[in-house]
Amino acid sequence: KKELLKVENLKQYFPIKGGFLGRTVNYVKAVDDISFTVYEGETVSIVGESGCGKSTTGRAILRLDEPTEGVVSFEGTDLTTLSRSEMRRKRKDLQIIFQDPYASINPRQIVSAVIEEAMHIQNAVPKEKRRERIEELLQTVGLQPYQADRYPHEFSGGQRQRIGIARALSVNPKLIICDEAVSALDVSIQAQVLNLLEELQDEFGLTYLFISHDLGVVRHISDRIIVMYLGKIMEISDKKSLFENPQHPYTKALLSAIPVPDPDKKKERIMLKGDVPSPIDPPTGCRFHTRCPYATEKCVTDVPELRTLPHMKEGHQASCHYIEEIHSGEMQPRDYSE
Ligand code: SF4
Ligand code: MG
Repeated sequence: KKELLKVENLKQYFPIKGGFLGRTVNYVKAVDDISFTVYEGETVSIVGESGCGKSTTGRAILRLDEPTEGVVSFEGTDLTTLSRSEMRRKRKDLQIIFQDPYASINPRQIVSAVIEEAMHIQNAVPKEKRRERIEELLQTVGLQPYQADRYPHEFSGGQRQRIGIARALSVNPKLIICDEAVSALDVSIQAQVLNLLEELQDEFGLTYLFISHDLGVVRHISDRIIVMYLGKIMEISDKKSLFENPQHPYTKALLSAIPVPDPDKKKERIMLKGDVPSPIDPPTGCRFHTRCPYATEKCVTDVPELRTLPHMKEGHQASCHYIEEIHSGEMQPRDYSE
């Protein structure tokens, strides 16, 4: 397995201005020291509730927002050290698809212009070959060549997302970051677009970083999954191990909220109390402690590290002080419903 993307100790703090002279009075710690690796050809998802830092992570990798701290290695090059123009050239290898295709597609441009713009910025295809390539790309994503001359509003949401995918593909990227790419679509259309993404991955050897709040979507597409909460990684695992043997109480809570495919298989249910706390002055110790049904004094003071215990599969890591005790049943969740 070849490492394509390696994120090390990434932090993204957004300053909060206020008071006299508009000085920085505090920070939103949107992403707070996370590390993970994405290997070539795989789909890694980042999942979590809104405000957990998943989209911020995607944007920081591409330097759409300059990261506060950390290393983002892509094929061994630290992207954070590149000049703006070097980074612009690198964007040929790293593309992003957003949730709302309308937001990323100019409504006054016909489809061919939308796609050609990306080719032009990256100097990816010689001018005289572009029309042919655009028609080919449209077919690749399940549209028709004649649709190159249509306007985005003439397409459905799912079709517009296909145009967004064609645009990303037009520069032959290696990594595509999909930021809630199917979240705005109906479930049946979602499945079609996810299937398309999987076909394209096999055909072009693409690697995906898939950002989503929706565990159903993540279950469909991922090889490995990163669970984030308030700017921190709670758990990392391959998909099977995460769904079958979740270790972190937060992951268990997220899984409790989705329907069980096999109704005979009883699962441990953990209900979350309260809302996600603010990322400004987030909870001390384990960030999940204000909502965790297992929390102790130690959770309030000590930050848990990601670790793998003997009962866990290789590569499966969780950051909780009590993985062992919860696994063995020695610790039981408090019941908030009483
Ligand atoms: Fe819950 Fe404590 Fe584990 Fe955090 S470290 S998940 S608060 S038991
Ligand atoms: Mg795949």
